[in-house]
Amino acid sequence: MTPLAQPEQIDTQAPTPKTAKAVSITVARGDGIGPEIMDATLRVLHAAGAKLDLEFIDIGEKVYRKGITAGIEPSAWASLRKTRVFLKSPITTPQGGGYKSLNVTTRKTLGLYANVRPCVSYHPFVQTKHPVMDVVIIRENEEDTYAGIEHQQTREVTQCLKLITRPGCEKIVRYAFEYARANGRKKVTCFSKDNIMKLTDGLFHKVFDEISAEYPEIIADHWIIDIGTAKIADTPEVFDVIVTPNLYGDILSDVAAQITGSVGLAGSANIGEHCAMFEAIHGSAPLIAGQDVANPSGLLLASVMMLVHIGQGDVAQKVHNAWLATIEDGIHTPDIYREGASKEKVGTQAFANAVIAHLGQMPQQLKPVSYADATQPAAMAAKPATYKAEKTLQGVDVFLDWDEADRCPKVLGRKLEAIAGPEFKLKMVTNRGVKVYPDGFPETFCTDHWRCRFVSNLETGSVTHAEVIGLLHRVLKAGLDFIKTEHLCAFDGKRGYSLGQGE
Ligand code: NAD
Repeated sequence: MTPLAQPEQIDTQAPTPKTAKAVSITVARGDGIGPEIMDATLRVLHAAGAKLDLEFIDIGEKVYRKGITAGIEPSAWASLRKTRVFLKSPITTPQGGGYKSLNVTTRKTLGLYANVRPCVSYHPFVQTKHPVMDVVIIRENEEDTYAGIEHQQTREVTQCLKLITRPGCEKIVRYAFEYARANGRKKVTCFSKDNIMKLTDGLFHKVFDEISAEYPEIIADHWIIDIGTAKIADTPEVFDVIVTPNLYGDILSDVAAQITGSVGLAGSANIGEHCAMFEAIHGSAPLIAGQDVANPSGLLLASVMMLVHIGQGDVAQKVHNAWLATIEDGIHTPDIYREGASKEKVGTQAFANAVIAHLGQMPQQLKPVSYADATQPAAMAAKPATYKAEKTLQGVDVFLDWDEADRCPKVLGRKLEAIAGPEFKLKMVTNRGVKVYPDGFPETFCTDHWRCRFVSNLETGSVTHAEVIGLLHRVLKAGLDFIKTEHLCAFDGKRGYSLGQGE
């Protein structure tokens, strides 16, 4: 084993001396294990000769405690807008009402739409059931249920809005193919749940099929997310690059990182058109904070991605190969230390020292990396909208908060039929998506939340907004509490809404 060098202690709060080529980056030391893994990472970067001018900002718990529910002060945004590069430790998101996740806010505010999460196994040096694994998960970062648009609609029912947009799908899918092309990857796999969510996930899959045709040299396939996740947990070697909507990507990448040996091993890049943010994929792990046991590798590998991004590929290569050589030498933090397989159990800072001692060395068995001329694919702007389609309003779903007559669907159905005409006819009433009127089943459990579908009763097959408003007036006059409406539109004659279950 290579003897450890004794690197001089570096004051991580002090900016690296400015050179002509120093790149300004914004740094947040975060919460929980954040400060210790950030200090370890910055010491390695400094020793490797990264030319960085560090601007430190406070985010997370400290800021939340001051009563700033966004978890970030306005002055911190100014730094981020100026440097456009953010190296961020994990932060603790207070659970429950009142606080927004700063991670989600940062990704969305800065337009960081592509979350790139490489998950690699380091067999036989890090114990894993999957010796051959080198998967990059590209998670859509701005849309889906992470829009965070939620409402309590009735006493019993809450709702989260899932938004999937065509420009959003186009940007992330194209980024995944560009990433595959730039990195010599052979296959891009789409994960979605379009057998159930035919419109939202269906759009993601459809756009994937369209864009994949522009990259004939890259294999493109699709898996339903549930069996795809099972497959990645069982046989990850069949995957190369995976592109998937936000929520699935969040879960999938934790699974993928953990099965490489530890969630503490994976770094990630959040790439946008104007800014980029680099972070470990794990959280602030408060249970192990302050004990010098956390693995700094996730943040260190994220910083390698950052160095490539800012054009310091030579330094990135030096750090990454030194890290691989350290792992190969069996110098391991407790999360990956295995009696017999590892040689030395070290803490966070000693691990950083070991990486520093290995700078300039190459791994002997693990594949060395080469970034000297590497570039990340630039994040692309959404193309100007060219999606023209004739839109017709065919009806309206009126959602009601109704808790009368023992929630008997027939009572409600008849009331609604009486007020539907002349422009509308009542097509059906559903409860949690299941048709309960007409011809419902007494076994179906009903909450106080009803979706009442009114479709055009006119020869044209369409209705106007004024006619919808007229209907709502009649609903109100009948003493019914409408809580929201959704228009039933067709685009170029194609239905733009789902059918009820049992319709
Ligand atoms: P976590 O990822 O912080 O930790 C879960 C467990 O994984 C830890 O207890 C530890 O055993 C292990 N682990 C994680 N990172 C490790 C490392 N570097 N080295 C060794 N072991 C490690 O998940 P959590 O406990 O569910 O979340 C804690 C907090 O982090 C929450 O407030 C959550 O919202 C937040 N979080 C932040 C981010 C982020 O800032 N990007 C991401 C995820 C979670």
